[in-house]
Amino acid sequence: MIYHFQNYSGNIHERCDVCVIGSGAGGAVVAKELAERGFSVIVLEEGGHHTKNTWNGKPAQGLINMYREGGSTGALGNPFISITLGKCVGGTTTVNSATCFRTPDSVLVKWQTELGLDVFTRTRLEPYFTRVEKIINVTELPWNILGKNVQIVKRGAERLGLHVKPLRHNVRNCRGCGTCQFGCPEGAKQSMDVTYIPLAEKYGAKIFTYCRAEKLIITENVVRGVTGSVLNPFTKKRNWQFRIDADIVVVACGALITPSFLRANGLRNRNIGRNLQIHPGGRVVALMNEKVEGWKGVSQGAYIDDFESEGIILEGIFVHPSLMLAALPGIGVHHKELAIQYPNIAAFGVMIHDSTTGRVRKLPWGKGFIAGYSIKKIDIDKFKRGIAYTARIFFAAGAKKVFTPISSMPVLHSMNDIDSFLTRSFKPNQMEILAFHPLGTCRFGRSQKTGAINSTGESFEIKNLFVSDASIIPTSLGVNPQLTIMALSTMIAENISNKLFDKTHTP
Ligand SMILES: Cc1cc2nc3c(=O)[nH]c(=O)nc-3n(C[C@H](O)[C@H](O)[C@H](O)COP(=O)(O)OP(=O)(O)OC[C@H]3O[C@@H](n4cnc5c(N)ncnc54)[C@H](O)[C@@H]3O)c2cc1C
Ligand code: SF4
Repeated sequence: MIYHFQNYSGNIHERCDVCVIGSGAGGAVVAKELAERGFSVIVLEEGGHHTKNTWNGKPAQGLINMYREGGSTGALGNPFISITLGKCVGGTTTVNSATCFRTPDSVLVKWQTELGLDVFTRTRLEPYFTRVEKIINVTELPWNILGKNVQIVKRGAERLGLHVKPLRHNVRNCRGCGTCQFGCPEGAKQSMDVTYIPLAEKYGAKIFTYCRAEKLIITENVVRGVTGSVLNPFTKKRNWQFRIDADIVVVACGALITPSFLRANGLRNRNIGRNLQIHPGGRVVALMNEKVEGWKGVSQGAYIDDFESEGIILEGIFVHPSLMLAALPGIGVHHKELAIQYPNIAAFGVMIHDSTTGRVRKLPWGKGFIAGYSIKKIDIDKFKRGIAYTARIFFAAGAKKVFTPISSMPVLHSMNDIDSFLTRSFKPNQMEILAFHPLGTCRFGRSQKTGAINSTGESFEIKNLFVSDASIIPTSLGVNPQLTIMALSTMIAENISNKLFDKTHTP
């Protein structure tokens, strides 16, 4: 059952086999897998439960209801990088672009050879990926649903001998309305709130919304449960308290919150909060001679991996005019002229397989997190080249102008401008960099020197405490991470199940 605010009438005290904190890509998978095996499971989610029936289709409502701090979270550094996070049943999967990639082989090999994580072989992980892909219906959509925006990019790329491939998405009956990042008005996106959470419910799990976990109950280095606050969604203040006693606690709050939560609860492993990688990137926008109507079609439809060896992937991204236009140059009448031409605007994204690492720390008194990430020159160079490659594709497709995310050279007028763009040097604070994939802040390790959790997902410090979310991913992936998180969480659920089974059957 999903418990809504109106279902509560006072303090809550429950007991279960497994308490999962967070209902996103990591938490929902663990909850469903363990509930299905017959364990009693409670999921705590700080946000509310929003469905296609409670959404009015407006981005502002999506931002307020489904994003943490209305979408204003990010990492401090030069420049500040926006990193938005979901806060609702389904976590960030509810507001993501539904793009699905398996972990690239080259990344798995790196984990095995450089980090000594030999369990992460393709053969071992294959069944987990297959299982997840079936449940969330990973599928390839036809080009007409992907929309004209990506077809224009395809035309330009092919003229340059590059290859545009359709992305795989976790959708069912998607009609390409393009509002994925504010929730799916059709219920077509197979995010956690419409797949794993209902399945967990079916197998008896209880999902407590508006319940923020705050304190782990730990005695003699063994976790025994969690306490926290029941939040009033109207006043945003604490109404009641809860206490969940559990044999196993799984922290799945996401890569920015999990480390600060663990630190606030006294965990000391030095890897907690370190190794933050985020796939920094940005948007390149083009003014075309033809109608694009980029809002008709999946917002992230296709990708180009011809530059993968350089650590650059180009991925479609077309977002709502309120976000896209605000980022374009010009003021007053010039901006208005551009806005009028919005139907002729095309856009594509650049995503970097980053070498930079940042860090997450807890704020004093355990209240929230602060992330720091100062992008290295090597990644800035990749970003610059990615922008240039995308601009070339747009000009080859017939663009009149290309808008870059760099304030000191915001407009390119022709192919010729690209060479001077590449030779100029830009300061980091002249770049608008965005990121959507924080990873690595409680990573798997062979020992406590290299990781925060062992290869089963259990903390090196506290027994029966597991982590299962984006923070466990050992390094940047170079591709969108949700499928990797879900597959590894399936593996962690299996490990927890074995542990509970062993415990029940130990004479
Ligand atoms: C706009 C956007 C688009 C994206 N597009 C894609 C994409 O197309 N493909 C892809 O692979 N990835 C995409 N991602 C990233 C992907 O969605 C995330 O990597 C993934 O959801 C992370 O999973 P998680 O379990 O770590 O955390 P989340 O999914 O963020 O879930 C964590 C949950 O824990 C809850 N929580 C936190 N603290 C507490 C607490 N103390 N008590 C109770 N609950 C708590 C949060 O409210 C949240 O609901 C996108 C991200 C964004 C922001
Ligand atoms: S394009 Fe529209 S219908 Fe398709 S998944 Fe995204 S929000 Fe849902």
